[in-house]
Amino acid sequence: MSRRFLCSIIGAALLAGAATLPASAQDYSYHAYKNNKERYAQTLGELLDAARADLRVEIVVDANAKPFLEQKIPVAPWKYWADPSLRLAYLLAPLDLTFEKTGENSFRVYEPWYQNRPEDEAAAHLERAKARYADRESWEKRRDAIRATLLKEFQLDPAPKKTPLNPIVSETRQHDGYSTTNVALEIFPKYWVCGTLFRPTEGDGPFPLVVSPHGHGKEGRFAADQQYRAATLARMGAVVFAHGMLGWVGDTPLKIDSHRDPISGGIQTWSTMRVIDYLTSLENVDASRIGITGESGGGSQTFYASALDERITVSVPTVMVSAHFYGGCPCESGTPFHSRLGCITNAEVAATFAPKPLKLIASKQDWTKNTPTVEYPFLQSIYGLYDAADRVEYEIFDEPHGYGKSNRGALYPFFAKELGLDLSRVDESKVTIEPMEAMTPFGPNCEKYPEGAVRTLEELRAAFEAAKSAE
Ligand SMILES: [Zn+2]
Repeated sequence: MSRRFLCSIIGAALLAGAATLPASAQDYSYHAYKNNKERYAQTLGELLDAARADLRVEIVVDANAKPFLEQKIPVAPWKYWADPSLRLAYLLAPLDLTFEKTGENSFRVYEPWYQNRPEDEAAAHLERAKARYADRESWEKRRDAIRATLLKEFQLDPAPKKTPLNPIVSETRQHDGYSTTNVALEIFPKYWVCGTLFRPTEGDGPFPLVVSPHGHGKEGRFAADQQYRAATLARMGAVVFAHGMLGWVGDTPLKIDSHRDPISGGIQTWSTMRVIDYLTSLENVDASRIGITGESGGGSQTFYASALDERITVSVPTVMVSAHFYGGCPCESGTPFHSRLGCITNAEVAATFAPKPLKLIASKQDWTKNTPTVEYPFLQSIYGLYDAADRVEYEIFDEPHGYGKSNRGALYPFFAKELGLDLSRVDESKVTIEPMEAMTPFGPNCEKYPEGAVRTLEELRAAFEAAKSAE
């Protein structure tokens, strides 16, 4: 009997045994594992407990990841990794969970975050991009491809037909150095966007223009920080339009499901473009000076619109230009856009604005914390291709994610410089914070909402498609 044949018999016997004998949790042999992986399946909760005990580390599981703790992962109990990061990476990969190191010996586990890349990997992406786009020709090829891809993924190619905006304009309210007027615009037939127009009441004009999209805060465009920003810019000499996101609080019978649909990114960007159509149609304004700024989701809207609407001359995306995070809402990352062209980061989207003046306002407490070492050097490199490295700048504060006082304080001098506004008129104590009821063109319960306008996500989709196919 040959040695090889003998081995086969032993192997067959082992296989037969594995298939028929009851599984023993103590059998850590290769053959036992090979023939019945499920024998060693443990819940994620058990595996994390073992890691805590073995490695003496703290592992906190975020509330959104807790439902995964009961799921089983086929990991042999004797498999051992001494490096906590490596161990967590292996344990979490089968469930697509993510984690971050929160301290010397502490970690936090999160739900699957497909809009997130490992920070090191995202930084390496921008380093490669810096080397690859070392001349204007190669960068402009990439820039044009990014713009075309964004238009396509946002379903704006072909764009809807530009139809009359049919503005519904409320009475104007007078404040200290500025006025407010509610305006509703029919962005495409049957779809209305509401906003408040903040206008200077001193100075002769023509006045520069500012579009002011809001982030995903609960109070939307009515929040005090949004009103401080818009009113102060108006007091400084700009005509400002602060409009609402799709399906957000206060202005529409559309429910939040219409915002949480990928259609929202394109419709919101189209809305911003149409808001610019409206602003440039007003009397005594200067259409050659147009700024845009917003925070978080409004920051995403800021760089998307800045990439696609050439009329914008100065851009301040706040707490959102990040190489490793694309935004968690469908209006930001609800399409495959970021996975196209070998992966597109939001730093590259912001860079499409070069060489026009751009300022990043960042927070040490969110995904823009690496701005000084990652996103800003990349943008400088792209602006440098136009001998304009001094036209991109950043400021970073140790303050929570949002458009707080420090962030607004960083905005005003930049817009004063780039739009020709009067910095001496910055005084937020002069701003009147109005209640939502005063700022909605259709009334607090949408009682004046136009007849026949869209009320559901399905009607919105149909109206958008009809607008795009209109001759
Ligand atoms: Zn959103």
